[in-house]
Formats: sequence, C-alpha cells, structure tokens
Amino acid sequence: MMQAVVLFGSPGSGKGTQANLLKNCLKVPHISTGDMLREHIRDGNALGVRVAASMQSGNLVRDEVVDQLVEERLAEPDAQAGFILDGYPRTRQQAEHLIGWLDARGIRELVIHLIVDYNVIVTRLTGRRQCPRCGTLYNIVSNPPRVDGVCDLDGQALVIRDDDRESVIRQRLAEYESQSRPLIEFFREKGRRLFEIDASDQTPEALLFQVCRTIKSPAVEG
Ligand code: ADP
Repeated sequence: MMQAVVLFGSPGSGKGTQANLLKNCLKVPHISTGDMLREHIRDGNALGVRVAASMQSGNLVRDEVVDQLVEERLAEPDAQAGFILDGYPRTRQQAEHLIGWLDARGIRELVIHLIVDYNVIVTRLTGRRQCPRCGTLYNIVSNPPRVDGVCDLDGQALVIRDDDRESVIRQRLAEYESQSRPLIEFFREKGRRLFEIDASDQTPEALLFQVCRTIKSPAVEG
C-alpha cells in the first residue's frame, strides 16, 4: 500500500526527528524541503544562491521553487511506494499544489500534526545541533550526543544551523503562525485525513510508537 505521510507542525515540533525514525519503520524516503534547500546552498548552485538569503533570515522560500523541488523528488523511483514529507506544504498555495498532485494520482495522504507548546519549541530550537554530514539532529538539553559536540553516527563536529539564531528563530515562528498554521483548518475544510498528536513532552521513540499506531490503524488503512 502507498504510504504518503505529511508531517506537519511548527519549526522545532520534531518533524525532522520523527521523519528520520519513521522512514526506517515505513521503508519510504524522508523528503525534507529544508534539507534539500540546504543541500543546494552547500553545493553553491544557482538555486542555492537564490534561496540563501530567505533561509538565513527565517523567511519562506518562494512557493514555485519548493513546489518544483518536491515534484521532482516525488518522481524519483524510491518515492513510488510512498514518502514522508517534512516541512512541506507550508503555505496555502503549496498545500493546493500538493493536493492537486496527490488527487491526480489517486493517492490518499495522511497529515500528522505534531502539537508542541510554544515554550518547549523555543527551548528546543535554541539547543539544536546538527551533523553537517548526515543531517542527524541533536539537542544539548533533551537529546545530547554521546560525546559533547560530536555526531554519534559519523564523528563529525556538530554545528548550529545559521537559522537557529534567536532573531531568526523568532522570524521562522512568525512565518509559521501567519502562513502555515492556517493550513490545519484548510486540511479540515478539504476533508483531508488529519491526525493531531500532542508532542510536547514525549520522547521521540514514544511519539514514533503513537505515529506508527495511527498510520497502521484500520481507520487509516481502509
Ligand atoms: P524548520 O521546520 O525547523 O523551520 P526546515 O529545515 O524545515 O526547518 O526549514 C528551514 C527553512 O527552509 C525555512 O525557514 C524556509 O526558509 C525554508 N523552507 C523549508 N521548507 C519550505 C517550504 N515548504 N516553503 C518555503 N520555504 C521552505
């Protein structure tokens, strides 16, 4: 069965961490628009140059750019049995684009909204560290690496993302409130399958258990 999962939630709600765990359980790729955009910036290609300023200031990248990135990624062979979208859609235009794409293919997605308390979000984002090589996320408070400042998986020195500085975090959260949060209502209005899970104070593993149970429940599979 096609497993099309959209992980939705504020920056810092744990979408990336959850998607990374979930991809092993569902055996479908984790598609993160943020990671894809950062990869283009690292490559220094034309697209990377175009999006760098928006990302570094915590603003959203233009819809046309991410719509196209996602569409190209979804056409890859490994996404044909399913996928986990993380960080997309984030605007009404993107949501309409995605719904059109899914409906044209008869694919029924499941949107999972990770609900997290605002204060928890701010703590998480300010303590976040990432491995620049494999993308694994850590948090100095809630999910530290075994050795301080070093990735458990490949020994790389961890970095603070450019957009995890405080003023930028504020801007990212403002973008979420104005552009992305209204999509919850939009998904409901359009009759999409939406599950909301309280993700404020659960370990990633406990949350994964709930998410998997939701995905595999008869109401969802039917
Ligand atoms: P977070 O969810 O913690 O903000 P992401 O890695 O998902 O982190 O996104 C980082 C940045 O990438 C965003 O602030 C935005 O500039 C850009 N971005 C990612 N996904 C999208 C999207 N779907 N639409 C527009 N911009 C995006």
